[in-house]
Amino acid sequence: MNADIRYSIIIPVYNEEAVIDQTYRRLKQVMDSTKEPYELIFVNDGSCDRTTVIIKKFCDQDNAVKLITFSRNFGHQIAITAGMDYALGAAVVVIDADLQDPPELILEMIAKWKEGFDVVYAKRTKRKGETFFKKQTARLFYRILKASTDLDIPTDTGDFRLLDRRVCEELKRLPEKNRYVRGLVSWVGFRQTAVEYERDERLAGETKYPLKKMIKLSLDGLTSFSFKPIKMANYAGVMLILCGLLSLAGMLLLKLSTATVITGWNLVIALQLVLTGILLTMMGIIGEYIGRIYDETRDRPLYIVSECYGMKKKERKVKHVS
Ligand code: UDP
Ligand code: MG
Repeated sequence: MNADIRYSIIIPVYNEEAVIDQTYRRLKQVMDSTKEPYELIFVNDGSCDRTTVIIKKFCDQDNAVKLITFSRNFGHQIAITAGMDYALGAAVVVIDADLQDPPELILEMIAKWKEGFDVVYAKRTKRKGETFFKKQTARLFYRILKASTDLDIPTDTGDFRLLDRRVCEELKRLPEKNRYVRGLVSWVGFRQTAVEYERDERLAGETKYPLKKMIKLSLDGLTSFSFKPIKMANYAGVMLILCGLLSLAGMLLLKLSTATVITGWNLVIALQLVLTGILLTMMGIIGEYIGRIYDETRDRPLYIVSECYGMKKKERKVKHVS
């Protein structure tokens, strides 16, 4: 690791020719003010406009600028991951290229990091210039995710955050493909805190997150951190069986205590409920097994040690079981 670099700023870019100039200028201004060595890593996620040409120009003028270009569009979360693989700094900051995340907030994050926090994430108190639909669906998604998992994934928080080197190293050890990076950061743990901000409008250009990509991201988030959807089949199955059995019991009671004639289709419906319930429950059980297989294939480490105390250096060597 290059010990000279203190901060690595990772900026995923996808067709951002309209803003990239301003973004570079503002980031440079903020990072220069720290008076510490830093690098700006632009991860070009397969842009097909002038983004590459513009960033190459920054690289030629400024040693702090680095560019990684993907062979095609692999997606925002993968771009962030690549940035982390190449980052050399003691602290790593991920920020969007469209200036919706104010670069000035990085200074606040650095201050918290110097206080001893390992992760400083930026929590949005307001989102400006985004459609009602986007704001409401995002709001709903964060709440559903929070309710579906035991993991403490902060709401209204994107990927704009600072990570200590050791958090970055742990993230690099997670080999899963469908990555929901902000969830993985929560999963890794360590001392985490928030700084609040109002999210600005995109400076120029259009969102690179159409509905299709948003749905993919939310499904990645939900399926990576929650088994609730599988469990729902079980609950629904048990409910159906109960309903079927109750109606059968009701019919039997009516038949025995009164002269009511129970027609055939009543019986068919009740039996249908019980049978569908049994099928759903069985599917849920198979789902539980698939869930466990999924858990194993993700190959996350079983635990992460943050500190060993009262041990000699040799004893401190962590042996991970994975
Ligand atoms: N981005 C990317 N690859 C993609 C989509 C987006 O690298 O496939 C980058 C984009 O250039 C920006 C960041 O990810 O820096 C966030 O995208 P955007 O601002 O369009 O999302 P929104 O803020 O509208 O949710
Ligand atoms: Mg944006």
